[in-house]
Amino acid sequence: MRDENCIFCKIANGEIPSRTLYEDDDFRVILDLNPATKGHALILPKEHYKNLYEIDDSTAAKVLPLARKMAVMMTEKLNCDGFNVIQNNNEIAGQTVFHFHVHLIPRYNDDGQSLVMPACHMTAEQLDAVRDEITG
Ligand code: AMP
Ligand code: ZN
Repeated sequence: MRDENCIFCKIANGEIPSRTLYEDDDFRVILDLNPATKGHALILPKEHYKNLYEIDDSTAAKVLPLARKMAVMMTEKLNCDGFNVIQNNNEIAGQTVFHFHVHLIPRYNDDGQSLVMPACHMTAEQLDAVRDEITG
């Protein structure tokens, strides 16, 4: 299914031009227009899924192998020093475009970026309670 009001549906399916790094039957990988670092790219499925809550298992199963392939290839070409793979779901988590996508962010020793979230400290009892809430 595609969503005619979704810009990433249009980009993924070639209706809007993009700086494509890779394409197959299921995905297009494009350069992010507002890159966090040199080479920041996005994996877009060609079908519309709002985010991880909605993507189907068979598409999801192809995402990590593709991310790995892109990371290896881009690390070789860009000679970056590391790599972040990030995927945001819902506004509170930083999602701004509501078509599932995975950020591929090459990292360089001198890129000046940081993705560190300060820890919210929890006691052992609190951690036990969280585990019980999730598994109970
Ligand atoms: P997120 O905040 O996880 O939803 O990420 C959305 C990303 O899409 C941001 O990094 C934007 O810079 C990027 N973006 C938005 N519109 C476009 C576009 N037309 N072409 C390429 N990247 C885009
Ligand atoms: Zn879409």
